[in-house]
Amino acid sequence: MTARIIDGKARAAALRAEVATGVAAFTAAHGRAPGLTVVLVGDDPASAVYVGSKGKATTEVGMISATHRLPADTSEAELLALVAALNADETVDGILVQLPLPRHIDSDRVIAAIDPMKDVDGFHPVNAGRLATGLDALVPCTPSGCMLMIREALGDVTGLEALVIGRSNIVGKPMAALLTAASATVTIAHSRTRDLAGHVARADIVVAAVGVAHLVKGALLKPGACVIDVGMNRIDAGDGKTRLTGDVDYEGALARAGWITPVPGGVGPMTIACLLANTLKAARARAAA
Ligand code: NAD
Repeated sequence: MTARIIDGKARAAALRAEVATGVAAFTAAHGRAPGLTVVLVGDDPASAVYVGSKGKATTEVGMISATHRLPADTSEAELLALVAALNADETVDGILVQLPLPRHIDSDRVIAAIDPMKDVDGFHPVNAGRLATGLDALVPCTPSGCMLMIREALGDVTGLEALVIGRSNIVGKPMAALLTAASATVTIAHSRTRDLAGHVARADIVVAAVGVAHLVKGALLKPGACVIDVGMNRIDAGDGKTRLTGDVDYEGALARAGWITPVPGGVGPMTIACLLANTLKAARARAAA
């Protein structure tokens, strides 16, 4: 079997086009475009790249993009004051505080300070709780994108065995909640799981969100499984350069899986498209409130 490749770039382009149409309608109806504000503290190069691409994608769909770049020694109180100001700003529909934050700032406190209606990352405990209890919520962007790709590949997932590897609040836990809501039978594996290989062998759907290059060997997969690779690992490319690779042994998995997402070009582009979709959703909800 050769797995079919789930093209995250193409799926994300389609979602961005849908969002752009929604943004045009929102702007015509409300006399202003939805606004997304990103806050970056410090000068982590990877974070700066992410923030740059989020800003570009935001303006491309017709939304207003703003970025606050704060120095690494910004105090928690200063950051909380900025979040409060953005909460009160009627033109701001989405607030995203880029993680990780410098160590002297308590990320949980900052996330909890964001107005849940503007929490387009979906990390606020109110949104996490709403997702867990089956209420409408702003859902974290990466698992949202994964779910769209799983739906595109498999359609109905009722009763299927789904394995989520990783239990972070950002990816693993919300992913498990989405799959549970879609009536899959969900297992969450993590660093203390005893028999990862046994769980992988049983799974119709594998979502790998760990951060360990090639942890999931292709030969372990159930034939025909749908494999979503969230991992983004920089490895030595052998020519003095580095390259990005996933948590799944892609070549091995191609021979056994039914569906697979590439890295890069799979989950990554979907994450940004889902951020735009969340911002439009937040703008609509605030306009209707
Ligand atoms: P995290 O470090 O917060 O969580 C990693 C999880 O993996 C933990 O729950 C841990 O228990 C589990 N784990 C660690 N070793 C394991 C092992 N040997 N077996 C099973 N489970 C193990 O990471 P995260 O923020 O959830 O991100 C995970 C990966 O996804 C990273 O590579 C990250 O860069 C990537 N990521 C990609 C996107 C994207 O848009 N493509 C977005 C978010 C995260």
